[in-house]
Amino acid sequence: MADVSQNAPDHEYRGLRYRLEYRDVKRLRLYISHLDGSVSVVAPSGFDDKKVEKALEKDMGRIIKKIRDVTGKVPEITGGLDRQSVQLRSLGDFEYELYFKKTERMTMRIKQSTGMVMVSVPKGTTIKEVEAFVARHIKWAEKCLKEGGFATSAAHRLYATGEDYYVWGKKLTIQEITDPDMAESLMGKEAADLIRRGSGAVRQENGRLLLACPAVSTPALRREILEIWLSDALEAVLPAVFKGCETIVGKSCSEWKVRRMTSQWGSCRADIGRIVINLNLGHLPPEYLNYVVIHELTHLWVADHGPEFQRRMDTYLPGWRKIRHDLQQHGYMC
Ligand SMILES: [Zn+2]
Repeated sequence: MADVSQNAPDHEYRGLRYRLEYRDVKRLRLYISHLDGSVSVVAPSGFDDKKVEKALEKDMGRIIKKIRDVTGKVPEITGGLDRQSVQLRSLGDFEYELYFKKTERMTMRIKQSTGMVMVSVPKGTTIKEVEAFVARHIKWAEKCLKEGGFATSAAHRLYATGEDYYVWGKKLTIQEITDPDMAESLMGKEAADLIRRGSGAVRQENGRLLLACPAVSTPALRREILEIWLSDALEAVLPAVFKGCETIVGKSCSEWKVRRMTSQWGSCRADIGRIVINLNLGHLPPEYLNYVVIHELTHLWVADHGPEFQRRMDTYLPGWRKIRHDLQQHGYMC
């Protein structure tokens, strides 16, 4: 991945510069560097530039978000104002997602799962009109965010020294280490190398979470470093968890993945047997992960959550109703 993204971009679409390479691959792959947010595309040799652009267009919302997460800045994408795709914008410190939609009036709402402010406006609305609308509603949004307990949600977190970070239900305190020599002595040579390359590493030690990162880093980069580590932690235990749960449920999935998800703890595509597990389960005690895996595997028998599904869950995991209830109370969907 890294060797591709280090090359200079040679293509551009809607102001997004990217490096394009045609190779003998089956599917188009899009890489966004964890280091600098640079974009590279590896496309099947049968593709042409138009087809690549079509793929970029389809993924534009995600690309913008990802670059924003890495660089802390929203990339300037041109020609997007009348498109349905999301834009990330800010007015002063106030950040929001802007959607141009087939709608009559401008609305602002707060995404329950993330505390992200979403503004929907009719197509053709100018940025000036949008900003006037946002300015009138900032107070309302900030009040909602505060009262909704979103103050500690992802959008407002710094992932900095002294902040809490939950791992398997245990509260750990983040300790940033920005000096490469210090990182090397505490966490090993790889951590020092990663700092020098603009990335970082994590190590759990007693009640602390050592976070090696560059001296100048954004909350988005620190979050990314922590999430890569958390994802690795989940991926390390999941083979055993799946094995145990598959024995209980009597079904196996063909493939599983860990992803940051914002509205559900897991998902299952029964037709192809693919299960996706929410990365945020790594913050919670392991019994929740176990429950979600059993829940998703049960979908390989029953698609909905009706009586048959519940009957099976009662058999596979007698205490599941309480676990589900507790899980709904957790604010880690971010
Ligand atoms: Zn379900």
